[in-house]
Amino acid sequence: MFRNYSESYEQIREAVERLCDDFPGEYWRLQDQEASYPSEFVQALIDTGYLSVLIPEEYGGSGLDLKAACIILETIHKSGGNGAACHAQMYTMGTLLRHGSVEQKEKWLPGIAEGSLRLQAFGVTEPSSGTDTTRITTTAVHDGDDYIINGQKIWTSRAEHSDLMILLTRTEDRGSVSKPTKGLSVFLVNLNEAEEDSVTITPIETMINHATTSVFFDNFRVPADSLIGTEGEGFKYILDGMNAERILIAAECIGDARFLVKKASDYASEREVFGRPIGQNQGIQFPIAESHIQTEAAALMVEKAGSDFDSGKPCGTEANMAKLLASEASWQAADVCMQTLGGFAFAQEYDVERKFRETRLYRIAPVSTNLILSHVGTHVLGMPKSF
Ligand SMILES: Cc1cc2nc3c(=O)[nH]c(=O)nc-3n(C[C@H](O)[C@H](O)[C@H](O)COP(=O)(O)OP(=O)(O)OC[C@H]3O[C@@H](n4cnc5c(N)ncnc54)[C@H](O)[C@@H]3O)c2cc1C
Repeated sequence: MFRNYSESYEQIREAVERLCDDFPGEYWRLQDQEASYPSEFVQALIDTGYLSVLIPEEYGGSGLDLKAACIILETIHKSGGNGAACHAQMYTMGTLLRHGSVEQKEKWLPGIAEGSLRLQAFGVTEPSSGTDTTRITTTAVHDGDDYIINGQKIWTSRAEHSDLMILLTRTEDRGSVSKPTKGLSVFLVNLNEAEEDSVTITPIETMINHATTSVFFDNFRVPADSLIGTEGEGFKYILDGMNAERILIAAECIGDARFLVKKASDYASEREVFGRPIGQNQGIQFPIAESHIQTEAAALMVEKAGSDFDSGKPCGTEANMAKLLASEASWQAADVCMQTLGGFAFAQEYDVERKFRETRLYRIAPVSTNLILSHVGTHVLGMPKSF
C-alpha cells in the first residue's frame, strides 16, 4: 500500500511504472475490443493508494499535490495504458477540496480514499449548450429540505461506474441574474440514492473505450446538503475542477506523446527497407525528432500550470495553454507514429491505432482547441471577443 508521504516524485513514477507492468498492451487492447471498463486496473490503483493521492491525510488519502497526480497519469499513459477510466476522481477534488464543507469532506472522502465509494462522474456538458456552459438548462429547485433536479447531461463519462457525481445545474434563470455565470450551482449527488426512474443513464457508443453516457434527471430529489458552497456561485467552484482536469489531461497527453515517440523511434531503428533502417532516412527521423521536441516543450507548460495550481495562483490561462500544447503534441506524435509504422500501424497488436484514436479526443475534450485560442486571444491578448 502506497502510504509513504515522503516518497519522492521519482519514486512515485517508478512505482507506477511497476504497477503498469501488470497491465500491458494486451490488457488494454482487450478492454478496447470488448468496450469494457478496466476494473482490475482501477482496483490496483485504489489498492496501492495512487487514486487517492490528492485526498488529505486526515480523510485517508496521501495529501499530495497535483504534480504527484500528473506524474501518476502521465506514467500510466506512457506505459500505453489509459487513465481516463479513473482520472475524474482526481480532478473533481479541485471542486470538492476547495469548496466543499467540512461535513461533506468527512462524509465522503474516507470512503473515496478506501475505495468503497467512487467519485468518477462530472456532469457539466449538455446536448443543447455545448461549450457554452452558462446556457445549461438542467435545473435544481429548492423544495423543503431537498432540491429537485430535472434535465439532461451528455458525455457524462463513467456515470455507470460511479457512486457519486459532481453536477452543475441552474438554480436561477440565466435571464434574471447579473452575469450569465451567476445562478449556477454545484452539487455532489449520490446516484445510489436516486428513486426509481429519477436518474436514467444510457451508454453512448464511441470510437474509443471511454464509458461515456447521457444522463436524464427526472425529479431527482437530493438532500439540500448536497449543495457545494453557496447557491448560485457554482461556476467559480467548477472552474477549479476544470483547471485541474485540463492540467491532468495535459499530463496524460504528455504520456501518450512519449509512448508514441518511443514506439516510432524504436520501430524506425529496427525496421529495414531498401537494405537499411528506415530511421536512417531523415524523412522518417526528423518528424520523430520534431515530435519529441514539441512534447518536451509542452511538458514544461504542464509543469508550470501544475505548480501554479498547487500554489493556489490563478492558473486558468496556464491550464488552457498546457492542455492545448500537450494535446497538439500527442496528436502530432500519433500521426508521426502512424506514418513511421506504415501498414503495421493499422495492426491492433502495436497499440498505435488505439492510441491514435484515444489521444485524438483531447483536442476536443474537456475543452476544444478553438475555445482555448479564443480565451488567449481575448482574455490574455485583449483582442475583441467573438462571442
Ligand atoms: C469521449 C468524451 C468524453 C467526455 N466526458 C465528459 C464528462 O465526463 N463530463 C462532461 O461534462 N463533458 C464531457 N465531455 C464533453 C466535452 O467536454 C465536450 O465535447 C467539449 O467541451 C466540446 O463541447 P461540444 O462537444 O458541445 O462542442 P460544441 O460546443 O458544439 O463545439 C463544436 C465545435 O465548434 C467549435 N466552436 C464552438 N463555438 C465556437 C466559437 N465561438 N468559435 C470557434 N469555434 C467554436 C468548438 O471548438 C468545437 O470544435 C466528453 C466528450 C467526449 C467526446
